[in-house]
Amino acid sequence: AEAPTRSPTGIVNIPEQHYHFHLHPGYQQIRIINDGAARLGIGNPFFKLHEGIAGATTRIGGREYINYASYNYLALSGHPEITEAAKTAIDRYGTSVSASRLVSGERPIHRELEQAIAKVYGVDDAIVLVSGHATNVTTIGYLFRPKDLILHDELSHNSILQGITLSGARRLPFPHNDWSALDAILAEQRHHFERVLIVLEGIYSMDGDYPDLPHFVEIKRRHRAFLMVDEAHSFGVMGKTGHGIREHFGLEGGDVDIWMGTLSKALAGCGGYIAGETALVEHLKFLAPGFLYSVGMPPPVAAASLAAIQCLQREPERVTTLQQRGRFFLEQAKAAGIDTGTSTGLAVIPTIAGSSIKAARLSAALFDQGINVQPILYPAVPEKSARLRFFVSCEHSEAQIRATVQVLATELKLM
Ligand code: PMP
Repeated sequence: AEAPTRSPTGIVNIPEQHYHFHLHPGYQQIRIINDGAARLGIGNPFFKLHEGIAGATTRIGGREYINYASYNYLALSGHPEITEAAKTAIDRYGTSVSASRLVSGERPIHRELEQAIAKVYGVDDAIVLVSGHATNVTTIGYLFRPKDLILHDELSHNSILQGITLSGARRLPFPHNDWSALDAILAEQRHHFERVLIVLEGIYSMDGDYPDLPHFVEIKRRHRAFLMVDEAHSFGVMGKTGHGIREHFGLEGGDVDIWMGTLSKALAGCGGYIAGETALVEHLKFLAPGFLYSVGMPPPVAAASLAAIQCLQREPERVTTLQQRGRFFLEQAKAAGIDTGTSTGLAVIPTIAGSSIKAARLSAALFDQGINVQPILYPAVPEKSARLRFFVSCEHSEAQIRATVQVLATELKLM
């Protein structure tokens, strides 16, 4: 039986799947997928063991690969200067702050990092949290509530969706990058709600495209809504000096209410940030559960990301090179007739394979030839748009990219 029952005589029958993990539907689904992949002879593409620093190349199973599976966009994770900054912070403060910052976990490196982030955005202040995912969950989940409306791009990251669910606010997706559809929804719905939040990403992580931000700013102003932009993949990648989508469009820090980003991509660390006006940051610092009831950022991580921001400012040519290599990859792929979806060549370039099996096979074929790229399978993306996702770094050479596209084009033809 599917549902728990209780007979008139008081005998309770609870189906086995309700008290065994191995019968949980999620686990059953994973087993079906893994067994299917094994039967088709496709190696498991997940949890591959990288044996050293994962940059433009990486070592797996003793072999060197060209690597497109890490978002170390500016090659700052593994950079000696960043590593040194982390080591110095360990010597000074230890590996953990051993408490929430509110109580006894505050260290100078936290505020130094937050002030550097706020300065880049030209806003009052910033707050850093120990996880990028948790930053979205706790910020959205805490600031909004059931009488509010949250409108988000249909391709929003899981952490945004989890935050919305936690908030209890009404959730409405709008078609990808479609500001006029968003405008129409707001014209109809705005007056039914108290606060309205619009959530976008600077660069969409599965597609490598970006929103026409000035239009969204105009819409949020007209409808008296808040605007939040997740810069996980755009900070360090977009804009002349890597200062993100704000710089790309020449906007002011104050044009967006909640700037969110992660330290785990271009900034060689781990964790997330929120930047904006004092009232927002103070509010989160005293009340957001994911900050308040969680340990402060480990000093070496904060120091690494602070050093990464400083390095970005000293060496903006890293950004220029990254942008050039991304464009080069995209041009080469397009010339070879590869379906790169809506990618703009900014760090993220997908190859649409058409099904999860094809994507897994393609990834395995490239791996055999010394290229490491992750397949993105259903349900992370719709089944028919299952893909490989190439993350480009500023240290990929044109020769590596040319060779990669050649192998990719050949393998696609064989499929
Ligand atoms: N937002 C976006 C758009 C992301 O792509 C990710 C993770 N890739 C996150 C948030 C979560 O960040 P983190 O991995 O640093 O926890």
